[in-house]
Order: sequence, then C-alpha cells, then structure tokens
Amino acid sequence: MKAYRLSQLDVTVEKEGANRFTKASYPVRYGRFSEIKTPEYLFEFNLNGEIKTIRGLTRNWPHPAEWLKRTDANDWVFYSAGGYKGVFDLLGEYYLPCLCYPSNSVWKYNPFTDPNIQKALTAWSQLRVNLSTVITNGIPAKIKDFLSLISRHDANALRMKAEKLHRIIGGEVSVLPPDTRHVDYEVIPLMITDGCLYHCDFCCIKSRQSFQSRSKDNVLQQIRQLRTFYGANLGNYNAVFLGNHDALGAKPEDICMAASEAYEAFGFEKSRLKNPTLFLFGSVDSLLNAGNNLLDALNQTPMYTYVNIGFESADAATLSRINKPLDVHKIEDAFQMMLAVNRSYLNIEITANFLLGDWFPNDHYGSIIELVRNRLDRSYSKGAIYLSPLNTSCDNRELLRRFVEIKILSRLPTYIYLIQRL
Ligand code: SF4
Repeated sequence: MKAYRLSQLDVTVEKEGANRFTKASYPVRYGRFSEIKTPEYLFEFNLNGEIKTIRGLTRNWPHPAEWLKRTDANDWVFYSAGGYKGVFDLLGEYYLPCLCYPSNSVWKYNPFTDPNIQKALTAWSQLRVNLSTVITNGIPAKIKDFLSLISRHDANALRMKAEKLHRIIGGEVSVLPPDTRHVDYEVIPLMITDGCLYHCDFCCIKSRQSFQSRSKDNVLQQIRQLRTFYGANLGNYNAVFLGNHDALGAKPEDICMAASEAYEAFGFEKSRLKNPTLFLFGSVDSLLNAGNNLLDALNQTPMYTYVNIGFESADAATLSRINKPLDVHKIEDAFQMMLAVNRSYLNIEITANFLLGDWFPNDHYGSIIELVRNRLDRSYSKGAIYLSPLNTSCDNRELLRRFVEIKILSRLPTYIYLIQRL
C-alpha cells in the first residue's frame, strides 16, 4: 500500500484500518478501504469504489475529529464530536450521530444546513468529475482500476444501489437496534419476520403488517442476493441484523438457521473484522417464550448475540396510554428473565428499551427505576438500558433531566437511544 500522487490528489488503495470495533474520540476506520486526499478533504471509499466517509482538512471544517459517513441505505450521517460535553455518558459513544432525516434526537443541531458540510458533499461530486480528466494510461493499473470504479458510482448509482438493497430484503429498515452502535451500525440486514405483535399507538417505526415469519426459501434467497450485493466489500462486515421488529418471535429453528447460514455465506470466519455479532429485536412475549433450547443454541453460535427488547414502561397507566397491550406483571417477568439470561449466558446480551416523553406521569419513571435499580443487588456492566425519546416531545431539556435522574440511580449501563434507519 503506497500513496500515488496524481496532480493534486494523493491516492492510496487498499489501506488497512482497525480489525475490531472500538470506542474512540477520534475518527477510526475499519477493515480495508481506499482513499483520496485533496488539499481540502479526505475521501474514503469501500472496496466497491463507493464513497464511505468525507472529512474536511482545513480550518473551515467544524472540528478535526468530525466526519461524514454514508450508510448502505445511502444516507449521510454527520459524526459530531465537538461541543457536546459528556456525549459518551449520554450515548455510550464519543460522537453524536446527526442524521439527514427526521428522527428522535433531543439535539436540534442540523449540520446539513452548514455551508461547509454542503460544500464537502459537493466536493465529492466534483472529485468524480475531475477524476475523468486524470485517468490516463500512464498510471499504475491498480490505481487506474480504483479510480474507474469510483467514477462509476455517482449519486444516481448509489441511490439505485440502496434501492436494490431494500428490494432484496423486502423494504427499508425503519430502525436498527441500539446495540448496533457497537459495530458503528455496519450490519448486513436479513429479514426473517415482518410486522410486530402489538401495534402500539406511540410507535413511529411500525409497519401495518401483522406478525409473520418469512419462509426458509425467502431467507436463503436474501442471503444469496446480499452476498452478491456486498460483493468485494463483504469482507469488511462481521455483523448481521436479523429483522425486522421482532425476529426473536420467529421459530427457534428459523432463527438458528438464518444465523448460521448468514455466518457461513457472508464469510464472517474470515472477515477482516474480529468478533462477529448478531443483532435482533424482540418483544416481551417473544422473550418470555424463548426456551432454553433457543438460548443454548444462540449461546453456541460463533457470534455474540444482542437481543434488544421493547419494554417501553412498567407503569399500567402509561402502557394503557400508549396502547401497548401488555400488563405490568408480564413486563416485570420479562425484565427478570433478561437479568437471568445476561447472568447465565456468556455470549448473549439482552438489552432493554424504555420510553422518555415529556407527558409521561411520574409513575412511569418510578417504574423504570424500580426495575433498573431495586431489582439488582449491585451494578452490572452487561445488559444496557436504552431510553428512547418520543419524537413528539417538545421539552428536550425535561427529557434530558429525566434521563440523568434514571442514569444516576441505574445499576445497569444506561444510554439514550437515537433511532437510525438502514
Ligand atoms: S414499539 Fe415495537 S411492538 Fe410496538 S408497534 Fe413499535 S415495533 Fe411494534
């Protein structure tokens, strides 16, 4: 790997980044990638020649430790690090992801209106145009191939590719589990179920479908097509998200089949990134119905499994108000089961979601504290609690105050859940 100077561009192909995901307060790149450095920007590309990140190098850029990242769904995310003191305590990461679409963030900062961010996105388009004039016969074949690959991936091609991803899996992923932050949201989505059990009133990400499992043929077809879709860049992934909103509700054999087929087909054993990981959402009922056979099987897969359960509240009045058809005893039993699984299974981690909203009664917050403090004899590092702000809330300061109140008392790691799509 050597930088090749081309006019004002430094081009480096197949650079090696970190081989495991880490928590860092500076930009870390993972797996293998290629880059082009101009006097103003550092552009990084995946092995398919698709733009992945942009970072400004001049004084106009908001902060040296901030960058733009493009997701496989072709959304730009701005990783904001400066100006948010204590962001790690709030999110468990050293940066605040700022999204280019509406979500449930309690921070109203929108970097996409900043002319310097807009300029960076325009600079990427301009770079592609400029490349066509510098690709000549005199340059090394490897560099020439890489530049040609980039020039084929303009904004339209990237948009169509994202549409193709959604066609393969049968629709957009409206929300990723909060635990996917541990792999910087770099997951391969694989749908094994659709719909959900409860259709709660407050939920902005639900589909209208009732809960149903995909057939084995459908899952295997997705795997085959996803393998082709990720192509040369597949070796930069080590994580799969089994969707959609309640994959834990699928039959145990279907969950295990999908996990093991994905692990094999996506080549996670040889991935450039260590520590393969499996992510799922689950409901209170699907957790309570998960028998030892399923848990034992998941515990033995070569992937560490995160299951994120939507509890929302343990207060009867709040559950009724959000139209979540569950009684408090069921929620308490499922929470107890979560604690037990986290203590008994080394390779499974169950995490919990509760809601933050500026109209919730005190009993809602009291019910969360009862679970995350009084049910535990001491502090534990496994099994995070995520507090998800309702996107209809107006008083963000009040939400943060409530969050801090719970975090101080919680005996489990406690963070804010920012909804990200794929
Ligand atoms: S919160 Fe979960 S269970 Fe309720 S509607 Fe949304 S996806 Fe379905």
